[in-house]
Amino acid sequence: AEEIQEIERAGADLLHLDIMDGCFVPNLSYGIPVVQAIRRTTSLFLDTHLMLADPGKYLAPFRDAGADSLTVHIEVCADPRDLADEIHRLGAECGVAINPGTAAESLFPSLGDLDLALVMSVEPGFGGQSFRHDMLPKIETIRGWLDGQGSKVHLQVDGGIDSDTAPLVYQAGARNLVAGTSVFRNPSGVAAAISSLRPETSG
Ligand code: ZN
Repeated sequence: AEEIQEIERAGADLLHLDIMDGCFVPNLSYGIPVVQAIRRTTSLFLDTHLMLADPGKYLAPFRDAGADSLTVHIEVCADPRDLADEIHRLGAECGVAINPGTAAESLFPSLGDLDLALVMSVEPGFGGQSFRHDMLPKIETIRGWLDGQGSKVHLQVDGGIDSDTAPLVYQAGARNLVAGTSVFRNPSGVAAAISSLRPETSG
């Protein structure tokens, strides 16, 4: 609760929750009771990344726990439009994530029905990994598709984001950046860490 209040004061735009099931990814993180507890501590938008082999079973429970958005992985649902419909019926925003090995084009059939596309810039499941620069062309491809459609879908990048890699993904067209290690383990403190991720506002 103290760390969440600290990032809220420091101007974080949202709180990204990494939910891991020990199946789709090798790690376990936390589940519904922790999301409920987080919801009680903050009014920040809870952006909930479901790294789950069977996300459809858990959409309503996570929404009931207070999630504002639910992001599922395309690797476990080749056509995510049914899940997107269900997420929207629950009154949440819907995201779809792709792993480093999954092509940008896999998103295109459903992208118009989503609120957010998430490009993983590390293999999901562990914090503290290095950013994969070979994901930058994928971000550019999706940005190009979205701009070509006049789409307002958010383009998010998750994994290895710090003050060195944030400008690269911004340049490639991402506007929603997820950072964990570089914020919470920053020796300069979380406020300095968060502002170091924002683009220069010189125009
Ligand atoms: Zn995540």
